[in-house]
Amino acid sequence: MTDTIATATALRHCDHVGGVPLERLAARVGTTPFFAYDRALLNERIALLRATLPAGIDLSYAVKANPMPAVVQHLSGLVDSLDVASAGEMQVALDTPTPADRISFAGPGKTPQELSQAVAAGVTIEMESATEARRIAETGERLGIRPRVAVRVNPDFQVKGSGMRMSGGPQQFGVDAEQVPALLAQIAATDLELLGFHIFAGSQNLNAEILCEAQRKTVDLAVALAEHAAEPIRYLNVGGGFGIPYFPQDQPLDLGAIGENLAGLLADVVTPNLPDARVVVELGRYVVGECGVYVTRVVDRKESRGKTFLVVDGGLHHQLAASGNFGQVIRRNYPVAIGGRGDATETEAVTVVGCLCTPLDLLADNVELPPADVGDLVVMFQAGAYGLTASPAAFLGHPAAAEVLV
Ligand SMILES: *Cc1c(COP(=O)(O)O)cnc(C)c1O
Repeated sequence: MTDTIATATALRHCDHVGGVPLERLAARVGTTPFFAYDRALLNERIALLRATLPAGIDLSYAVKANPMPAVVQHLSGLVDSLDVASAGEMQVALDTPTPADRISFAGPGKTPQELSQAVAAGVTIEMESATEARRIAETGERLGIRPRVAVRVNPDFQVKGSGMRMSGGPQQFGVDAEQVPALLAQIAATDLELLGFHIFAGSQNLNAEILCEAQRKTVDLAVALAEHAAEPIRYLNVGGGFGIPYFPQDQPLDLGAIGENLAGLLADVVTPNLPDARVVVELGRYVVGECGVYVTRVVDRKESRGKTFLVVDGGLHHQLAASGNFGQVIRRNYPVAIGGRGDATETEAVTVVGCLCTPLDLLADNVELPPADVGDLVVMFQAGAYGLTASPAAFLGHPAAAEVLV
């Protein structure tokens, strides 16, 4: 079986990124492999979200999807807030114009050092345990600052269809919903400024119906938990989990259905029960994933017992996900193309492999592509999220990939 390019974005990027022809961009970067992110596509993505989600929803960018400082700087001007998951990401976010009170810091195992940096910075710390709550309160006393906190809740429901499930059942993320009232009592006894709740259920979900149901359960849970809070809830982060299509059989998410559902929830549940709450949707992959490509060059073309291999100068050490080793259960091909051949009609079946000496370094297995040879560019799509920084860069000691925002 062979796959062909599936997405409209893919077709747009075959020959140009941000209006620059690929070979010219490669010359500008000075080397392959490289990641290129398209500023205009980022703008379009945010415009689509703004036009489709209700006006009362704040948009937060989850920096871990793509922490390239230029990308975060650009998105800072387009979203309402930034979510970070380490002190390193927090520094990148603090360098942007986004104010500290619009930066939230989530993640299990924040070290006392990281908590201290976060309290000093004045960001909102999304607490993942009672231990963290105690450490934050102590840090606040030591620094003479009242820490801004929210409780990350591990809900009592699960969300089906997520590529990565991060809630329901036993989890290292958040505080179990049934333990939250006790934690709120602990918080009320200390000098912490409780802003509200963060409930993030999972990642890479393409099923709008399931996401809508999760959002409904999320706001209902927040209303129930708010009864145990000493102060009015001013912040409700309902997560995100919006997926993007990676494979030919994937259907893009029905964002319109999600927008309608959120509008209903704001009007019927949030405004009557939590009138002071700023409601935040937090997205990583949906914002950046389709806006980036990974560009490599063919260094060898080989025939082996009836199979044609294109060996490129990149690999899973830069773009692990395309090799199928970042959370996928069954390996499927990410969309791929030969640079500058967007209008080619003739194709042949080839297998694209990276330059690492391991059979895991398979980038596209048995795909139909225009005939290509040594020196041609191979473009891999859907590379804007969880690419470079989610890959084992030190594996085999090859050089790092370059990154550009165009
Ligand atoms: C990873 C993560 C996200 C981003 O997930 P995407 O699938 O990239 O949208 C958002 N919020 C939290 C808390 C996360 O850990």
